[in-house]
Amino acid sequence: MAFTKKTVRDVEVDGKRVLCRVDFNVPLKDGVVGDTTRIVAALPTIKYLVEHNARVILMSHLGRPKGDGPQPELSLAPVAAKLAELSGFDVAFVDDTYGQKAADAVAALEPGKILVLENVRFDKREKKNDPEIAKTLASYGDIFVLDAFGTAHRAQGSVVGPAAYIPAVAGFLLEKEVSTLGGLFSEPKRPFVAILGGSKVSDKIGVIDRLLDSADTVIVGGGMAYTFSKAQGGHIGNSLCEDDWCDRALEMLDKAKKNGVEFLLPVDNVTADAFSEDANTQVAKTGEIADGWEGLDIGPETEKLFADAIAKAKTVFWNGPCGVFEMDKFAHGTKAIAEAIAANQDCDSVIGGGDSVAAVNKFGLADKMTFISTGGGASMQLVEGKPLPGVEALNDAE
Ligand code: ADP
Ligand code: MG
Repeated sequence: MAFTKKTVRDVEVDGKRVLCRVDFNVPLKDGVVGDTTRIVAALPTIKYLVEHNARVILMSHLGRPKGDGPQPELSLAPVAAKLAELSGFDVAFVDDTYGQKAADAVAALEPGKILVLENVRFDKREKKNDPEIAKTLASYGDIFVLDAFGTAHRAQGSVVGPAAYIPAVAGFLLEKEVSTLGGLFSEPKRPFVAILGGSKVSDKIGVIDRLLDSADTVIVGGGMAYTFSKAQGGHIGNSLCEDDWCDRALEMLDKAKKNGVEFLLPVDNVTADAFSEDANTQVAKTGEIADGWEGLDIGPETEKLFADAIAKAKTVFWNGPCGVFEMDKFAHGTKAIAEAIAANQDCDSVIGGGDSVAAVNKFGLADKMTFISTGGGASMQLVEGKPLPGVEALNDAE
């Protein structure tokens, strides 16, 4: 899909101060960075800026600070060090974001060099999108670059603020995320098969609704399948259910029929007598789950049904595990889906959502996927067709 905003390619960055909002919200334990996916995802833009002789000022949030001053355990200092290690570039860090110390560090920054500012959320005005901090941040840069796809759905100071004062363009990660996820709705290669799972229908109904306008097959698994089953008059025992969403579930089935979209639900389920790794389990047909039992994974027939549809796809979008994959006993169905997608190297596979991405990583199949989104909430909002405030705020391409 054509990306409609300006990108770093469209502006002159040589010698300029480029203020870049990245998503360095990485897992951190005792000052050690765990998974580096988000840092690696930001590298193409950072490299481009350094190689084009920009003065690169990076800012991000990390974790959930209280917003009333520095919290050493959520400092970006170790992230800056990890960035230096991963990129091979010199990376300076300043333990200030909105004060004189930060302004001085920015003023001292030379072309081709990188400065990382301290966690933007150490000040509560960030989350409130206070114009004062937007102005301060904008004063650090000649150009603003948004590359923090994972926070692009939040109208917060460092995400949308600077765009009101200085030219604002997208980085490569943001561009890739928006065009890939948006592309699912413009010209997907067909058949386009979408698999939705996870626990709550209420979280995903907007996504299902929109996918019914684009996909050829919509598959629903995971905990939310039981709301569909109950809505159709099935017995679901103690399985997860959102009674208030039964009508909407039926509406989705109607919409699928109207749009000629194949809608696949589980035909059998792995049920358990407790929500536990030690529970007794048995396979039950959909609609026939006994009292005292709950569906925690899709069953073997369903795995086959879903895998067959995936095998024929030219485009796959997957969001939401098909079972409680955190427990090995109920991870089989989710693994089968991941394996079916990985086995179809003839399709564009797009994975979105925090837990689905975690599942793909857990099964070691990440390198078999075409695209793995770095945004949980942001990718869902995009797929739902809702605008992302961070993207909206950027300058339109000419
Ligand atoms: P994502 O982060 O990929 O968007 P969600 O957050 O919507 O996915 O859903 C993930 C959660 O859904 C997981 O914690 C998983 O255990 C849970 N889940 C999946 N199937 C079931 C089920 N049958 N019963 C209860 N929880 C389930
Ligand atoms: Mg989740």
